[in-house]
Amino acid sequence: MTYDVAILGAGPGGYVAAIRGGQLGAKVCLIEEGELGGTCLNRGCIPSKSYYESAQRMLGVRDGAEFGVRAALEAFDLAACKGRKDRVVEELVGGIGKLLAGHGVDVVHGRGVLTAPDAIQVATADGGSVAVSARNVIVATGSRPADIPGLPVDGARILTSDQIWSLEELPESMVIVGGGVIGCEVAHAFSAFGTRVTVLELVDRLLFTEEKEASRAVQRALTDQGVTVRTGVRVASAAARSNGAVVTLEDGAEIAADCVVVAVGRIPNTAGVGLEDVGVALDERGFVQVNDEMETSVPGVYAVGDAVGRFMLAHVATSEAMVAMHTCLGKPYWMDYDVVPYAVFTKPEVAGVGAKEADLKEQSIPYKVGRFGFGASGKAAAMGAPEGFIKLLSHAETGRVLGATIVGAHASEVIHEVTLAMRMEASPGDLVTTIHVHPTISEVVLEAGEDTMGLAIHKLGRPSRKED
Ligand code: NAD
Repeated sequence: MTYDVAILGAGPGGYVAAIRGGQLGAKVCLIEEGELGGTCLNRGCIPSKSYYESAQRMLGVRDGAEFGVRAALEAFDLAACKGRKDRVVEELVGGIGKLLAGHGVDVVHGRGVLTAPDAIQVATADGGSVAVSARNVIVATGSRPADIPGLPVDGARILTSDQIWSLEELPESMVIVGGGVIGCEVAHAFSAFGTRVTVLELVDRLLFTEEKEASRAVQRALTDQGVTVRTGVRVASAAARSNGAVVTLEDGAEIAADCVVVAVGRIPNTAGVGLEDVGVALDERGFVQVNDEMETSVPGVYAVGDAVGRFMLAHVATSEAMVAMHTCLGKPYWMDYDVVPYAVFTKPEVAGVGAKEADLKEQSIPYKVGRFGFGASGKAAAMGAPEGFIKLLSHAETGRVLGATIVGAHASEVIHEVTLAMRMEASPGDLVTTIHVHPTISEVVLEAGEDTMGLAIHKLGRPSRKED
């Protein structure tokens, strides 16, 4: 049988494409060598958010007395936390299996290699081989943690973000190499659990792609939580020892810990799957090159998600998968790379969408800033979460919302209001005249809209102005 579409990889790009294909009546084959759900479900988003919730409960017990809850904290049980995470993952992976079956998707377990633009040879787990032929192929093979020379990952003392979710015993100390998204999220969770965490970051601030004030807020919060943050330091090497590991900095200084987590970025899984053999063009870093329809240099072969690497985010993979699958089936579909929300799950959370202030300056786009601090939010005060702010950017002439950064409680949820505002070409005025439930964190969006006009109700001081 020839399938309409064969998909390599069952992460949030591949499995979503498969379900949509099934919904649209296509005959779809999904090929996966590991678990359904890919990195997101098994080693990324879901495990980390499961641990994040454990971290919030630890922090909640610690400051419980302030809320009238006096409880003694006995211990943190990492094995129980992991067990809960395993059950969450198992349930979600099982759910995906049911959805795929319900939509008539054939799932082939094994490693697939393109042998022609319309043919995939799959080496199955039982040592067999299956030939899959399809009119279209979607490559959704994802990415894996990058390693750097001198940091030999062994899965025991020197770990990647794939491996930390298998730890059964809480390390007393941990050094994290890299203060990006993974480094900050892991530092927040494990430090809340009770591990003594040190973050070593090469550039001069954590989360360096964020607005500077967001980086500062996260660094301050992690430091307050007890994390040692060192920026502007390059890790040269690491070595496992019988009782832990030692990291050596470029200047020769050594830092010892029970374990080292290497979180220095991710690289695409695009080698060894036959892409170059069938003529698919990759860039110099191994990412698949695609056009706006996610089609590669070979007609009928599409690629999505981390293998393309425009944004290494599960939800971008999902959107790209929609574009690719719809295009395969001759149905137009679109996505907007200018309006990609994202979040970093530390405490406070960081979320953003659209432009950053530096981008607007660089492009000489006239803009206005609306700011509002969580300290003046009634809901944030009641929650005991006054840390944070929103910075809302809009075009000084057209009034269109251009972007926002939110740092604070529920930032990862509140960002969607700004995201939709951008999609709808709304202005701060539209946000201001939209009635918001009181008391909610979302009111900060309304106040930031008002502040753009110098009229925020719960803020004293001069109207907002451009800041450096
Ligand atoms: P990253 O690129 O965000 O951060 C890596 C950091 O490591 C950088 O700040 C870099 O300067 C630093 N670094 C590199 N070499 C170093 C060295 N020798 N010594 C010290 N520091 C060094 O990468 P990540 O945190 O590994 O995340 C990988 C990808 O996964 C990212 O694209 C991220 O967006 C994505 N991700 C997203 C989420 C989320 O959306 N919540 C969560 C996890 C991961």
